[in-house]
Amino acid sequence: MAKEEITENDLKYKLNFLSLNIFNSIGRTSICLLNNLFNCSGGSKVYAKTESQNPGGSIKDRPAFYMLRDAVNKNILKQNMTIIDSSSGNTGISYAMIGSFLNLKVKIYAPSNMSEERKQLIKLYGAELILTPAEESHDGAIKKSLEEYKTGGTDIYYMPDQYNNPNNALSHYETTAVEIIKQTGGNIDYFVTGIGTGGTILGIGKRLKEYNKNIKIIAVIPDSPMHGIEGWKYNYSFNFKGFDHNNIIDDYVKVDTEGSYLMLKKLIKKEGLLCGFSSGANLYGIYKLSQKYNGNYVTVLPDTGSRYLSTIVFKDMF
Ligand code: PMP
Repeated sequence: MAKEEITENDLKYKLNFLSLNIFNSIGRTSICLLNNLFNCSGGSKVYAKTESQNPGGSIKDRPAFYMLRDAVNKNILKQNMTIIDSSSGNTGISYAMIGSFLNLKVKIYAPSNMSEERKQLIKLYGAELILTPAEESHDGAIKKSLEEYKTGGTDIYYMPDQYNNPNNALSHYETTAVEIIKQTGGNIDYFVTGIGTGGTILGIGKRLKEYNKNIKIIAVIPDSPMHGIEGWKYNYSFNFKGFDHNNIIDDYVKVDTEGSYLMLKKLIKKEGLLCGFSSGANLYGIYKLSQKYNGNYVTVLPDTGSRYLSTIVFKDMF
């Protein structure tokens, strides 16, 4: 069989062989021990990974890179094609960032109520942003992007489909989880995080369970459909081949938006960590759990708070 010819301008070359580019800075984020946030009874500890350190400012750089690299390697995504997907913002920013480096067009469908900064960032990287009605939430954006994908077809569009693509969860299984084990010395009792696509909890959860089956994986979920935690889905569903939630998630804890925002403000003021709403919600979930169970808790702080500064949530802090 003839060997595939790969040139420097090839997408495959840019994604796989050139280490001194933006992709080299995805992952390997720090972990912080949060000492000042709240009193854990019984000597519990809380560790959090600061995912805003990724070049696109959020945890979603990891799955976006994995999904696009896989598609390029399988020749499903080729030069002159457009990446199309729905996103509550962060994955859209990651696609747009990677698309700008690879010189690929990117089209993102997102609910209109996402923060202005996130809209601006998607456009800044040169991607097209189509806003869908806020009241239809993520489901409206998913539906509209699928309609356009079907109309345009697979010669024009590549759809990563982050809600179903196993490379989403795989990115966390192969990178985030491995970093967590290394950075904590494996001294983990609970991994706790919320759900958007479910890639984070299923990817990290599967790896941690394989490492030590006694580690409990706990999902934090919003207490109402009209919650204000950007990035989280109320009606979540799981569909990643190889990542069965029945074998991964042990329990669920509910949080309200108000309490999550308060925790976020505390995180900023007491730990000096400027993060987004879901970070506050993850930590509020841990706070509730820590009132009942002692142990070492680990979570992720999915994105930076600087992309929410214009929202009403931070108004009383200036
Ligand atoms: N927090 C934020 C800020 C997000 O953007 C997302 C992804 N939508 C999540 C949490 C949830 O991550 P996952 O999609 O891996 O469940």
